[in-house]
Amino acid sequence: MPEIKTFAAPSKYIQGKDLLLKISDYIGFLGNHFLVLTDQIVFGLTKDKIAQGFAGTSYHVEIFGGESTAAEAERIAKIAAELHCCCIVGLGGGKVIDTTKYAADLAGIADVIVPTAAASDAPCSAMSVVYDENGAFVVSKKMKHNPNVVLVDTQIITEAPVRLLKAGLGDAFATYYEARACKRSGVDNFTGGKRNEADYAMAELCNKLLLQYGKAAVESVQKKQWSEAVDMITEANIFLSGLGFENNGCAIAHAFYSGMTKVWDPFPVMHGEAVAVGVLVQLAAEYLHAGKTDEREWGEVITFYKECGLPTSLKDLGIEADEKKLYELAEATCTYPNSKKMPFDVTPESLYQAILRVNKNNCMEETNNERV
Ligand SMILES: [Zn+2]
Repeated sequence: MPEIKTFAAPSKYIQGKDLLLKISDYIGFLGNHFLVLTDQIVFGLTKDKIAQGFAGTSYHVEIFGGESTAAEAERIAKIAAELHCCCIVGLGGGKVIDTTKYAADLAGIADVIVPTAAASDAPCSAMSVVYDENGAFVVSKKMKHNPNVVLVDTQIITEAPVRLLKAGLGDAFATYYEARACKRSGVDNFTGGKRNEADYAMAELCNKLLLQYGKAAVESVQKKQWSEAVDMITEANIFLSGLGFENNGCAIAHAFYSGMTKVWDPFPVMHGEAVAVGVLVQLAAEYLHAGKTDEREWGEVITFYKECGLPTSLKDLGIEADEKKLYELAEATCTYPNSKKMPFDVTPESLYQAILRVNKNNCMEETNNERV
């Protein structure tokens, strides 16, 4: 039987400088009464831009309750229905985005995602991460469709805290290495079939843009100055990484993140920061399995991390863990399906060895010395 290849993406992806100021030009085709969901802080920063962007249309601003729970999604869906809104516009970070997708799905109306940072893969995907009221992970829920519109204002991305951009670099950096592992093992992607060639090409391009523009983008966002590098990294972090992970699949890097959330509660770092370390653990596991380190690749990866200020160990994340805790982490990581997508068996013992290799302050020297 020939393979069934599937691809999923937002219906429209629009990226540019100062787009929020003219948002109604781009989403007016969806209707003329919008529910804008945002949090108090973002609303304080963007109130004037929202007013200008939605001038000439009718809109209602609803302040986000603070946690991406099922109850919050139901509350927003109810308001959207009562006000006869044509769609929900989610302006904010990951939790606002997740709630927007879920609420629009419940209400059966369109959703528009306007991310305020290039911090994760949340904007383009059909997944909504649901938490309980204490912030503990409940489920990753698949919506009926990917967002109708993802609109990214790169001026807003430029003005966001640089830590968010760096976390996004970590999350995006995993895309290619996880896609490569999934390609080798032949597992299904997250869209119900096998990847096609375009999916894999997006993961490769994501990696290329990150290596080329990552450092310059971090410097621009540190100075709050828009640049071509910010534009390129926005495309890599939000568009290519979002589509890349969903249409190729995840592997150890994301299983490691999930394992960390299980071992450390409350979770002390950002998603992309943990995923960045997870990429190194995945590579170490690959090298251990192969019996040799790809020194060119490892060197390229570590150089990129150092240039962009990404964490290369749990210590860099501010987490001290003894060997018992690291083994617990390896065991927790192995309980997640993403750990089973590698082209070889991953056991708590083999993963523990990989984690040990990475959890040194200087992976590069350690690897060169030890010839992992
Ligand atoms: Zn991710």
